[in-house]
Amino acid sequence: MTIAMMGERLENQLLRLLRDTAVDEYERLRAQTEAVRFAQGEVLFEAGGPASCVYFQDDAITALVHVLADGRQVQVATAGAEGMVGFGAFLDFETAPLRCVVKVPGTGYRLGAAALRDAATSGSALHAILQRYTQYMFGQATRVAACASVHDVGARIATWLLMTHDRVDGDCIRVTHGFLASLLAVRRASVSETAEELRRTGAIDCARGRLTILDRPQLERAACECYDSERADYERLFRSGRATCGFPAAAAPGTIVNIVATGT
Ligand SMILES: [Zn+2]
Repeated sequence: MTIAMMGERLENQLLRLLRDTAVDEYERLRAQTEAVRFAQGEVLFEAGGPASCVYFQDDAITALVHVLADGRQVQVATAGAEGMVGFGAFLDFETAPLRCVVKVPGTGYRLGAAALRDAATSGSALHAILQRYTQYMFGQATRVAACASVHDVGARIATWLLMTHDRVDGDCIRVTHGFLASLLAVRRASVSETAEELRRTGAIDCARGRLTILDRPQLERAACECYDSERADYERLFRSGRATCGFPAAAAPGTIVNIVATGT
């Protein structure tokens, strides 16, 4: 379930965890970050391009996508306030393995890859946090691959909606069926059929280019096991220490989230 924090601004949870566990490290790191505003559709880095920066989002959501030779792109993982993108820099990647696209605009912080590596030395709190986050993202990517191979399209769509809902303020997601189909590499008709079925059960409402979450428990029942598995993985990795972080999605009914329709 989303964590309601009415009136609170979404805050990057990895930076918050660093602040709560090692404030000196946090302050040194923050002194090197640059506040940025993420534009909808902005490509933060290209697959094969230089891995020169990392990004910590507050209220923005990004998709890490694999780009096929014919230009189609498939979402491999997603990241919002619970995480970051560009963590390959932590692993000494010289190039980005995936394209990173901003799905939901918002704000956050940019940090140079070299500065991240300098700060995340072995034994540091940041090193421990990034190790856990790397493990979480590896799990997310492998789950997406398994999910695409064996799970029903409708359940996969319900899972995608829940994962997106967890990372935004509000209950409305502005997304076209074509965009969702492209991210999940399924037929557009399958998305439309699933959306109609979810609407019929009262889980969501659909208007042109907009999905509104009306009944989260109903949507959770429609999702595949991957949603619970992902949440459990994150909580296992980040709630076991003396400081914790979690999915920060706040309930702000009526807020509309715009998800850019790239690749449609
Ligand atoms: Zn699944």
